[in-house]
Amino acid sequence: MTGTGATPRPGDELYLSEQRFQAIYDSVNDGIMIQDMESGAMLDVNRRLCEWLGLTQQELLQRDLGDLSLGIWPYTREVAIDWAMKAIDGAPQTFEWLCPARGGQLVWLEVNMRRTPIGGVDRLLITATNITQRKRLEMEATARLKRAEAQNAVSLALAGVGPDHAAALKLIAHHLAVSLGDLCVLDLLGDDDLLHTEVINQVYVGGDAYLPEARSLTPTPAGILSPGRVLGTGQVAGTAEAIHLEQRTWQELRDYLDPAFHAYLEHFKVHSLLVVPMRTDGRVIGTITLAKGGGSRAYSVEDLATLQNLADRAALTLVNARLYAENLEQARALKLVNQELERRVEERTAELERANAKLQELAMQDGLTGVANRRMFDQVLDTEVRRGRRAGSWLAMLLADVDCFKKYNDRYGHLAGDACLQAVGRVMRELFRRGDDLPARYGGEEFAVIIPCASPDQAAFSAEMFRKAVEALAIPHEDSEAAEVVTISIGLAVAQVSPETSPGWFISRADESLYVSKANGRNRVTVAD
Ligand code: GH3
Ligand code: MG
Ligand code: MG
Repeated sequence: MTGTGATPRPGDELYLSEQRFQAIYDSVNDGIMIQDMESGAMLDVNRRLCEWLGLTQQELLQRDLGDLSLGIWPYTREVAIDWAMKAIDGAPQTFEWLCPARGGQLVWLEVNMRRTPIGGVDRLLITATNITQRKRLEMEATARLKRAEAQNAVSLALAGVGPDHAAALKLIAHHLAVSLGDLCVLDLLGDDDLLHTEVINQVYVGGDAYLPEARSLTPTPAGILSPGRVLGTGQVAGTAEAIHLEQRTWQELRDYLDPAFHAYLEHFKVHSLLVVPMRTDGRVIGTITLAKGGGSRAYSVEDLATLQNLADRAALTLVNARLYAENLEQARALKLVNQELERRVEERTAELERANAKLQELAMQDGLTGVANRRMFDQVLDTEVRRGRRAGSWLAMLLADVDCFKKYNDRYGHLAGDACLQAVGRVMRELFRRGDDLPARYGGEEFAVIIPCASPDQAAFSAEMFRKAVEALAIPHEDSEAAEVVTISIGLAVAQVSPETSPGWFISRADESLYVSKANGRNRVTVAD
């Protein structure tokens, strides 16, 4: 030991005992350090610890606890001093520690710190066990678990990807960062042929978009890697290969990443990098970059294989999502066009229906007077006769003719004549409005009415009402031989329909009766016998 008590001489009991102690001190399996509690200076350090850290005893004695820290939380100078202070206060401390060794190697130590009297003075005694091997095995096991979790998480995420492309990208980056890396950058090449110009290079840290710094770093050019290292943005296909870098300093990794990302390397103390292409159909659509920082384990070849597998599956999903979204868009547009087409067809159909109804009306109606036309009259008379035959019911039919109408035209003009006929039509429509009654224009200034199920008395009454109503119009007709106003003569045929009765029978009987009315001075009703 150095720096404690009087200098022993060869031959002294003390000297021998001292040498024995030194031999043991240097060859035990633990690392040992003795620190002065006042100054924090290293008083002694054994050979085992020097071996582990790759430093000479002299070099190690010039350092303090802070120098033996990785510098990344929770392995910082402040935390080391904190442990020491607690031990100095009298509470022994045991904890795991990550130390940098010469050449950038990292050594895991299980450290015990206690205050203990050495050579009559209280010192801080620090003993350490090297647990690097154990830690490595532990981390291997954890890594295997993580890889399996990553496979599952990303597979599940990919299965749930919908047509929203940006959301799909975020989902993939999130799961990769959570499962495999401390940091994940998804980078899509702006290839118009494939995924349009969409490029995301947001940094995902622990699964969350790392916005504060990303804002100052973006936008960055497509392809976070230096051209030619993995993917040049211009010549992607065929040149794709993965990059797998284990345990480096972040300075050593700078060459591999776009300068925009150097701040991340430093900030997260990145020491291990994986960059894999996302491939589908023989093309590269982008890269996935995963980085590990701080005290975490470096990437292994297994991690690389896992990531490549996931990257290719993600590429396929992204391309499919894009196609699906495009198809959906087309289908939507098509549906809109179809709806418009259907609406127009419906409109057109309604128009046609209206036009047809009008045509139908015109075909059955007399254009001048609005009552049924001759065609309609013939059809209805035929139908009513058939019906009457079956039931043996009453049927009445009258023919009416405007009196001295030629003279009316001659005196008042043809247009006034038309107006007169229209007035008669109006009267008919007013009077014969029962569902089965059919007022019609028989031709010229002759009208006809079919009155089903009317007894002779009822029919005669109706005919007389018709005659009176026209007279009551009081349309002056100075040249009429019948009255001073426009009048009509009526011939009425009424019968209980029998198998022998025909439409023609009704017409000729009514016509005969009309002739009788004319002959008897007009403006009257004659009922056929
Ligand atoms: P009668 O009392 O014997 O029936 O004498 P009339 O003059 O009414 O008989 P006639 O058959 O000689 O004349 C019928 C006239 O009705 C002849 C024709 O010009 C006229 N007429 C027929 N259809 C129309 C029409 O649509 N409009 C007009 N203004 N006149 C019509
Ligand atoms: Mg006539
Ligand atoms: Mg006439």
